[in-house]
Amino acid sequence: MGDNYKLYSILGVEKNDSIETIKKAYKKLAFTYHPDKNKGNIEAENKFKEISNAYNILNNEEEKQKYDMCGDKNYNNGSDNNMGGSRNPHDIFEAFFGGGGARGFGNHFEQEMFGFGGQNKKQNKAQSFHRVFSLTLDDIYNGVKKDLTIILKKYCCECHTSCPDCGGKGIIHQIRNMGIMQTVFQIPCNKCEGQGSIIKGKSGCTVCKGDGVFNKEKKATLIIPKGVDESYRTAFPELGEQPKTKNTIPGDLIITIEIAEHKDFNRKGNDLYYNYDISFINSIIGENITIPYFKESIKINTVIFGVLSNGKNYLIEGKGMPILNTSNKGNMYIVFNISYPKIKNTEKVEELHKLLKEVFI
Ligand SMILES: [Zn+2]
Ligand SMILES: [Zn+2]
Repeated sequence: MGDNYKLYSILGVEKNDSIETIKKAYKKLAFTYHPDKNKGNIEAENKFKEISNAYNILNNEEEKQKYDMCGDKNYNNGSDNNMGGSRNPHDIFEAFFGGGGARGFGNHFEQEMFGFGGQNKKQNKAQSFHRVFSLTLDDIYNGVKKDLTIILKKYCCECHTSCPDCGGKGIIHQIRNMGIMQTVFQIPCNKCEGQGSIIKGKSGCTVCKGDGVFNKEKKATLIIPKGVDESYRTAFPELGEQPKTKNTIPGDLIITIEIAEHKDFNRKGNDLYYNYDISFINSIIGENITIPYFKESIKINTVIFGVLSNGKNYLIEGKGMPILNTSNKGNMYIVFNISYPKIKNTEKVEELHKLLKEVFI
C-alpha cells in the first residue's frame, strides 16, 4: 500500500477493505488502547488518539475518498494535519458505541456494549451500575414486584475545590512533535474530567463531615412483567454512580436477569416441555398422571392422546408461560419416555397378536 497511506496501516487494514472490516479493526483497537484501561500510559493514549483519528476519517465516505486520492502527503481534513485529528477521540469512541459514559469503562465495560446511558452528549454522565437478579421460572410465571433499598455513595457538592492538575481550567496542554514542528494540543484534564473542580472533603462540612462522600438511601420498586426472558433489562435512571464533578449527571442502575433451571420444565420461548417416564403397557392402555403447573396441577389420563409414541410431543394447549404484554399463554408439551419390556413368554405372543388385532384398528 506504500507509506503514503498510513491511516490504513494504523488500523491494520488494507486500502480495499470494506467499511465493516475497518469498523471491526477500530473496535478491537479502541478497546485495547482506551485510556481507562491503560491509566497513565501515554503511549496507549496516543495510540488511542491515532486510531480514533484514522477511523474518524476512513469512516466518513467523503473524507475517505479524498484521502484515498491524496494520501498522507496531500490530504487535509480541515484540521492542522490528518494525524492531529479535529475530533475528540472519546467522542468518536462514544459515537461508535452509541453513547455511554465518555470516561471510564473499567468494571462497567459491558455497559458500553449495552448502549445504555450517556444520552446527553454535552454533559458528562457518571458510570452506570449493573446488577443481575436471579429469578426462578415461578417468578417469571407470576411477575416480580420487589422493593429495593439502594445505598448511593454521594459525593459532597459543598466540598468542591479547584483542580490542582489543570488549575481549574478543565483542560491541559500537551506538546507533541510533528516532524520538525511542535504542536500544542488542548486535551480535557483527566483528574477533574474536564470540569475544573474536584471534590475534596473540607473539615467542618456539615453535609459530609469532612469525608467528601456520604451515603444516601433510595427506595425503588423493581417490576418485572410476566413472561420475560433473559434478554430482559430495565434501568433506574440516576441510581448508578453519583457525580464526582459539578457538571456530571448521575449514571443509571441497569437491571438484567438470569433465570434458574426449573426442576420440572424446560422452557422454549413461551412453551414448556415436561418429561414423563411411562411403562410400555401404560403407554398403550393409558395412565392417570398429575403434572405440577406452578400453583395448579393438571390431571389427565394419557389415553386422551391414544397409544403413545416415545419422544413425541403431546400438546396441552394454553398451559405454557405467560406471553409478555398479553393475557395469553404458550403451550405445554408432554414428552413420554417409554420403557420397553423384554418378551417373557414367547408362546403367548401369537395370542396377544390376535387380541391386539381385535383391540386396535
Ligand atoms: Zn483538572
Ligand atoms: Zn462536604
